[in-house]
Amino acid sequence: MTTDTNTRRRFLGRALLLAGAAGTALLRGPTALARTVNDYLSRIRGRVVLRSDPSYLQWWSAMSWFLFLPRRYPDLIVRAKSHEDILAALAYARHNKLRVTVRSGGHNPAHAVLRKGGMLLDLSLLRAVEVDPASQTAWVEPGIHAENLMALLDEHKLDFPAAHTGVVPIGGYVLGGGLGWNMPQRDIACRSILAAEVIMADGRKLIADATQNTDLWWAIRGCGPGFFGVVTRYKLQLYPLYPQMTKSKYLFAIDKLPHLCKALGKVASEKEDRVELLAVVGRFYPPDKPPAERDLVCAVSVFAFANSTEDARELMAPWQRSGMPEQALLKSENKRLTYEQMYAGQETDHSSPNRTAVENIWTDDVATGLQTLAKKMQDDPPPSPRCFALSGWGFSNTREDPTSCVATPSEHYLSWYLMAEEESHVPINRKWMDESVAALKPITRGHYINETDPLHYPEHARECFTQEGWQRLAKLRDKYDPDRVFFSWLGQKEKTA
Ligand SMILES: Cc1cc2nc3c(=O)[nH]c(=O)nc-3n(C[C@H](O)[C@H](O)[C@H](O)COP(=O)(O)OP(=O)(O)OC[C@H]3O[C@@H](n4cnc5c(N)ncnc54)[C@H](O)[C@@H]3O)c2cc1C
Repeated sequence: MTTDTNTRRRFLGRALLLAGAAGTALLRGPTALARTVNDYLSRIRGRVVLRSDPSYLQWWSAMSWFLFLPRRYPDLIVRAKSHEDILAALAYARHNKLRVTVRSGGHNPAHAVLRKGGMLLDLSLLRAVEVDPASQTAWVEPGIHAENLMALLDEHKLDFPAAHTGVVPIGGYVLGGGLGWNMPQRDIACRSILAAEVIMADGRKLIADATQNTDLWWAIRGCGPGFFGVVTRYKLQLYPLYPQMTKSKYLFAIDKLPHLCKALGKVASEKEDRVELLAVVGRFYPPDKPPAERDLVCAVSVFAFANSTEDARELMAPWQRSGMPEQALLKSENKRLTYEQMYAGQETDHSSPNRTAVENIWTDDVATGLQTLAKKMQDDPPPSPRCFALSGWGFSNTREDPTSCVATPSEHYLSWYLMAEEESHVPINRKWMDESVAALKPITRGHYINETDPLHYPEHARECFTQEGWQRLAKLRDKYDPDRVFFSWLGQKEKTA
């Protein structure tokens, strides 16, 4: 099924879902904005949807990837077709004192694109890509999806640490960091942003890179959903594509988890950077049964980014020596894959629209973290059997980088995803999430802004950055957006400069 079909299906599904109480309340008569449509909006060639528009709710629900949405309604949605549209939309927002949030694809799990009031400026139609094979760089518009970008790069045998899920667009992903393919070697993706073209609150268009507007460049490399501008294009550093990308996958009974975690810790310390080591706890076994009838197991995926079959074998060797592969319930080993095939193999993506609570930690003790979550999933199962916890072992480069605001304080990453099958699961998931966040506090070194919810955990936004980085971002907001045209991170008090 194509992404477009998926999108249409979700669009229609949501229209029905929303025909209920929330919808009725919202459609009460036109808002004041409908009467103040002025010159600026009439210049927009893309789509303008006011709250009084009969199709508003369909547009609203299509702005987010997720099925269960918070009742936060922008006053209007502008789907831009061009930079001129963006300039007109910003002028309208300034004129009418509306706050703006920018959307590239609406995948942010905290629904950062849905705010109370204001303007939602949708850039998802901006998807152009210009690859320069000679310099191994590309100018990329924010709406392009990871899988489409990778397919274009493949024609040039080039690579980028794009998201592990094909439908995630580049825009918000790199702005907030970007935990992508071959992360241990390529580093967090925002550090591959060589330059960005940005439209600021006052309508100025700036280029930010290592030589001009360097403070803005620093902020774009990791700031995420608190950014104070509209990024219209990124210039990305590309890399040669490995000819032998290889995946091995194993399912282990959950009682093997303590032993498995010890082995993963050892492999993480011995492996080369070109090996990505992921362990996911969820109800995956036996795979031919419906999720509710499956057992909690741990799925280990080992990806080797190799130059040849021999190279792949050597990269896999620390894991192969661990003694664990022999103990798997199921395994599929040393499969050579393209990115298209790697994307197709991301089974947990299928339930991703059902996510209602997502959190993460950077931690030095991922073994304790994963086992804590596994125990809670066993003793106190969340309502949906499709919930899971993902751990990346030896996943990140902990170097300090003065040219990016992103912080990666630990080598290991742990994130967990709570799904709902129906509305009543949402508050249960929230409680489950609160309890698990509290349980993991002692081993938390920081968070990743693209997979945290600062509305529910306001301190998490700050904990995605160093203290110095957080203060510098606040000063840059004062400098570049003194009138607060742009919304800040969810959950933060908005003060004007
Ligand atoms: C199924 C799924 C899989 C995922 N897989 C990964 C993964 O492998 N690795 C990973 O790191 N993350 C992953 N994520 C998380 C993802 O990085 C974030 O959800 C990210 O915010 C998505 O980008 P987006 O363009 O859809 O953001 P949106 O939801 O569109 O935007 C979020 C916020 O970012 C800001 N923003 C977005 N675009 C712009 C722009 N052009 N200019 C200025 N500000 C902008 C705005 O403040 C906006 O509110 C995944 C999410 C999902 C749902």
